[in-house]
Amino acid sequence: MNNLPEEFGCMVFNDEVMKERLPRDVYKALRKCISEGTHLDLDVANVTANAMKDWAVEKGATHFTHWFQPMTGITAEKHDSFIRPEGDGGAIMEFSGKALVKGEPDASSFPSGGLRATFEARGYTAWDPTSYAFIKDGVLCIPTAFCSYSGEALDKKTPLLRSMEALEKQAIRILRLFGNTSARRVVAQVGPEQEYFLIDKEVYLKRPDLINTGRTLFGARPPKGQEMEDHYFGTIKKRVKDYMTDLDHELWKLGIYAKTEHNEVAPAQHELAPIFSTANKATDANQLTMELMKSVAARHGLVCLLHEKPFAGVNGSGKHNNWSISTDTGINLLEPGSTPRENAQFLLFLCAVIKAVDDYQELLRVSVATAGNDHRLGANEAPPAIVSIFLGDELTEILDSIENGTSCPEHPKTQMEIGVTVLPHFPKDATDRNRTSPFAFTGNKFEFRMPGSTLSISGPNIVLNTIVAESLSQFADEIEKGGDFNSTVSAIIRKTIKDHRRIIFNGNGYDESWVKEAEARGLSNLKNTPEALPAFISEKSVALFTKHRVFSETEMYSRCNILLENYCKILNIEALTMIDMVNKYILPSALGYEDELSRIAAEKRAVDPSIPCAMETKRLSRIAALTDCVYGRLEVLENAVAEVKLGEKDLFEEAREYREKVFTAMAELRACVDELELIVSKKHWMLPTYDDILYSVK
Ligand code: ADP
Ligand code: MG
Repeated sequence: MNNLPEEFGCMVFNDEVMKERLPRDVYKALRKCISEGTHLDLDVANVTANAMKDWAVEKGATHFTHWFQPMTGITAEKHDSFIRPEGDGGAIMEFSGKALVKGEPDASSFPSGGLRATFEARGYTAWDPTSYAFIKDGVLCIPTAFCSYSGEALDKKTPLLRSMEALEKQAIRILRLFGNTSARRVVAQVGPEQEYFLIDKEVYLKRPDLINTGRTLFGARPPKGQEMEDHYFGTIKKRVKDYMTDLDHELWKLGIYAKTEHNEVAPAQHELAPIFSTANKATDANQLTMELMKSVAARHGLVCLLHEKPFAGVNGSGKHNNWSISTDTGINLLEPGSTPRENAQFLLFLCAVIKAVDDYQELLRVSVATAGNDHRLGANEAPPAIVSIFLGDELTEILDSIENGTSCPEHPKTQMEIGVTVLPHFPKDATDRNRTSPFAFTGNKFEFRMPGSTLSISGPNIVLNTIVAESLSQFADEIEKGGDFNSTVSAIIRKTIKDHRRIIFNGNGYDESWVKEAEARGLSNLKNTPEALPAFISEKSVALFTKHRVFSETEMYSRCNILLENYCKILNIEALTMIDMVNKYILPSALGYEDELSRIAAEKRAVDPSIPCAMETKRLSRIAALTDCVYGRLEVLENAVAEVKLGEKDLFEEAREYREKVFTAMAELRACVDELELIVSKKHWMLPTYDDILYSVK
């Protein structure tokens, strides 16, 4: 299909379709429910469901599903057909309002982090009418939230919606104080840039580690990696281009604004960026995008790797979460305005973000903590595990002058009324030069660069929305106390800059000296997942999330358990896969080569006993030494896994042990195997090498 406007969203039950297919009063009631968040009544649901079914059936759908995001991090669906028996062996297609609004999947197979032990075992899904229904593979998908019967959220969507509400509530308070009476809604806007690797399926199928864990657990560095940087923005190969085109079309049909696609730094690495949308829609869209990236790849004989670090020594993949806040009247609250009042408002929102990121740096760190992302953060290709904000020199200079009460040399008019008159616009090009910052201001939005490529963006946005809501609520409390508006706002801005300037860092985040400086500034540096997770359930975090009704304390504990369990399970699977590969592939590969070497040496000597066979002898003894090393380290890993014993200890303790014992043993085993790989002949090495994999797409 080449008609983009016609193709775009053709599989989505969007506003246009609703307008066309629903009776006027039903359409209006539904719109009201969507735009104002009001309750949906059953009559409206019934009519809507029926229209949805007719539309879906016309497009070839026979089934429907409540599509939701359990805490596994991937999406879940259970298909039901529209069919209802009627009369004598006949059938009709039916879809009721009740089935649209509520579903009861068997919740017991989804992780609940212990919630089910204490609460109702069943869970239900509830339609989120703010996210449009769509058709995927002949199934009408209804985006839903997933909760337990006692009301605990069992998914990633419910708390995201709650956090958006919390942010909206506090932002509206501030806007009203600034005299804005027209904005009725405030929403978080998100645009996630998705990185991924694309490799040939044949090669993939020969690597048990890629199949089991999504990343290579062994692999010597290829002679040519990414050092020439000739892949970045380079010509896209035809096979990849065809894939991207196909993917774009699939995404467009689902109303996802896939916009830019290009090669990334590493060989076989690419990026896809959509046009931003409201945080919940962006989250749904990103989940769908990841799913389609994989399924479309399969059609092309390719495999899409979404792991954060599929290859050691080669850049990993991230997901830059671009975030801003805007009103329903179209104002981006992170965009400097053209009047002093607008600029004061901008500065106040900017300060709210600065304060939030400083006050809750650990929570932002926790929001991106996974076993996979541990390989990426701080690896000189991704931001360090230390959270800081990049504002750029221009904006920092303005904040300096506000704090010091001096006038800014280049912007002499910045000292008036509320501290500022006309702020310059910050063109993206001028502010976005720093690629090493975890949290960068890029003109009119913040780019959170710590999330890994596989992560649902729900978590980071829940944290962002909530921590900024908290700053805004403190500011609003202060302003509402009365007193002169201008001087109160001005004092808040000045105080925030003074109290939180330690979080602002415009330098090189990859530099070793930054680690020391950050420590001197008192910034936290939670290096890995087991170190980071306790911060999620600290008293401070519980107070924050419960105050804004984003999580109950029980929900937080259950989520923390799930994160810990996931971490341990991933390491366990990786360790077992390594052990298996050493036994089945690596040691036999070495033995095969040893056998050949000794056979040849023996043959040579049979011809002439005085031939020294120096190469064969040296090679053999080197390989023998390395295989002994591999075997020794294999035993260490086996013992470590047995010692940690999955599921028998306090989860925090277990995660720490996985990190200290298993992770370390894995790294040591790998080092030895990778050295071996370098000297074993290609003919005997039973696994595709990094070269074979990274350059598999011709
Ligand atoms: P890059 O960071 O690669 O230079 P862009 O800055 O153009 O690329 O866009 C990156 C992502 O940021 C895109 O998904 C884009 O839609 C999104 N984005 C742009 N403006 C905003 C905004 N105001 N709020 C949230 N996301 C935005
Ligand atoms: Mg970017």
